[in-house]
Amino acid sequence: MVAKKSAARRAPSNAERAVPTAAERVAPARLTAHEKGTKLVAELLANAPELPLAECSHCGLVWPADDRFFPRDKRTSTGLDVFCRNSKDELSRKYREARA
Ligand SMILES: [Zn+2]
Repeated sequence: MVAKKSAARRAPSNAERAVPTAAERVAPARLTAHEKGTKLVAELLANAPELPLAECSHCGLVWPADDRFFPRDKRTSTGLDVFCRNSKDELSRKYREARA
């Protein structure tokens, strides 16, 4: 029993991941759909590293938590939509295309 205890205490792999910095979380590998916005965010973060950020529930990218990147929504606790503007545009375009 004593021998098994140390194995059980081994941390799961996801707990070993370092917490990414804000700049790293603006995922560079996923630029394509949101390229323009992501470049702008990188510039903003370079000038203001303490900028509050919010993760989009649709694309999973992290954007500055303000109305330049998230449409306003009075129903949410933050006052901003949970989907970023890019994802909102993408979803409404897909919706229009699906109806056409
Ligand atoms: Zn998004």
